[in-house]
Amino acid sequence: MTVHHHPSEELLSAFATGRLDHGEHLVVAAHVARCPECQAFVHAIEELAGESLESIAPAAMRGAALPDARRKEARMTARTKPEPSAKGSDDLPAVLSHYEMGPWKWIAPGVSLRPIILASSSRSRAFILRSKPGTRMLEHTHSGVELTHVITGEFTHEGGRFAAGDFDYGDETLHHQPVVGGAEPCVCLVAMTGELEPDGILGWLMKPFIRL
Ligand SMILES: [Zn+2]
Repeated sequence: MTVHHHPSEELLSAFATGRLDHGEHLVVAAHVARCPECQAFVHAIEELAGESLESIAPAAMRGAALPDARRKEARMTARTKPEPSAKGSDDLPAVLSHYEMGPWKWIAPGVSLRPIILASSSRSRAFILRSKPGTRMLEHTHSGVELTHVITGEFTHEGGRFAAGDFDYGDETLHHQPVVGGAEPCVCLVAMTGELEPDGILGWLMKPFIRL
């Protein structure tokens, strides 16, 4: 598996220093567990943060020191095996084994969703989204952000092709309509803040489920 799409360095820094919302943290954790490159980056941030958590801002971390640390760490961890997926027929990320999940809900033809129970303080909602090949997902924009980790399968939108292990970040500036490709269902872990702004009937169908 080759990962092509990663969280931004800002997002990884926030993850490493525990500043992400619960649902968002979960999605980034699922990606990092499968991505040696991001693991190395997170470890480097954790080390820096451990030394000087109060005085180093994420912006400062993008200076000269970090890319070196990142490359070095990447070499060191290149042969490290990413965390294996949790057992179970769904092949879900191991990080999800700590969470309770609600029942699968039908959303639209070929699309179902399973909510993940988060702490009540979480600003974001998190869920597993399963879509059959050929599904054209609802076209939508966001009033907040949407973080997606591809567990299996693939989808494509104007931002590129996203396959197993890839991470996708959408915010209110995006207006995208992912299409599920490949031969197997696409299963994603998604965290979403704000309201979904649906552009079509699927969006309206989906809205009650997204607003968990
Ligand atoms: Zn990565």
